[in-house]
Amino acid sequence: MKPIVFAASNISPLYQRALAQHYEVLGPMPVADLMAHPARGSIEVIVGSGESKVPADMMDALPALRLVSVMGVGYDGVNVAHAKQRGAMVTHTPQVLNDDVADLAIALMLNTTRRLPQADRFVREGHWLKGAMPLAKKLSGLHLGLVGMGRIGQAIAHRAQAFNMPVSYTARSAKPELAYNFVADVKSLAAQVDVLCLITPGGASTHHMINAEVLQALGPEGYLVNVARGSVVDEQALVAALQAGQIAGAGLDVFEDEPRPLEALLAMDQVVLTPHVGSGTHQTRQAMADLASDNVNLYFAKSDVKTPVPECQM
Ligand code: NAP
Repeated sequence: MKPIVFAASNISPLYQRALAQHYEVLGPMPVADLMAHPARGSIEVIVGSGESKVPADMMDALPALRLVSVMGVGYDGVNVAHAKQRGAMVTHTPQVLNDDVADLAIALMLNTTRRLPQADRFVREGHWLKGAMPLAKKLSGLHLGLVGMGRIGQAIAHRAQAFNMPVSYTARSAKPELAYNFVADVKSLAAQVDVLCLITPGGASTHHMINAEVLQALGPEGYLVNVARGSVVDEQALVAALQAGQIAGAGLDVFEDEPRPLEALLAMDQVVLTPHVGSGTHQTRQAMADLASDNVNLYFAKSDVKTPVPECQM
């Protein structure tokens, strides 16, 4: 009989397929139903995506829990402190998605400044027949401010070099080994740059880090790009800043309430929206599914894992 693993939410078909070779995947289902499930006492593993919620009561419904394996680098939906208290390991899929997320960040910068979705509509809707499209803003040479300078932040900074963009950043700590300018607080960073790009984890420590004051500091010529988590931005403040022309535009891949971005954002021409597709390529999702299932396989084979989250590293 195959061991049973519990899916905290719908998972990628690629992860599902990799898991199905060795395990029976149960769920998702409400915690109340899980509590009544006859197999719950034997389930050692929860699997999920970067957006999955894995709260304490879900873990406590599984007395044998030993591992939470997330297919995604962000794991802000997992109560890691509780997992540790329960003696369970949490794993994620770092590195394999750096290129895709960095590519999307640059794409959102180009799309907001050069207004490419608007240009596409301009051609399709026949406006070109009546005259030229209004001019856009040059991206090359603009000062990029990164909020977060980890694995993906560094991949974005590397790409920005090819656009002759000076790079400044903020993070929890300065990285003297990197040739970029560290700015200790996000408001000062916003005041110095033309494009503010967010690439931190979600969760309590970054919640609404981008608020009305930061947006005001970014200024009427400034652009916001968010490829981090929706929770990092106070979206009501963002809508107000865009409506008042306090910032020039925004490129957003992530939202506070997915998949339902605020109606006000949908209505704005100076905003480019993508549906949380930072890692959304065949190649990268396969690599993520492989790494997430490797963690599960290694746990069952050797009580070990490949890529624990930092809080669970020895
Ligand atoms: P990482 O290597 O851990 O880097 C995170 C960076 O954020 C680090 O520079 C860290 O600072 C900084 N940071 C963390 N907490 C902070 C705080 N409270 N204030 C300021 N800076 C803070 O992570 P990564 O692999 O680059 O991934 C970053 C995030 O991108 C993920 O957690 C996820 O939320 C998001 N993401 C989104 C997508 C998408 O589809 N849009 C895909 C993948 C990832 P230190 O360096 O000082 O520790």
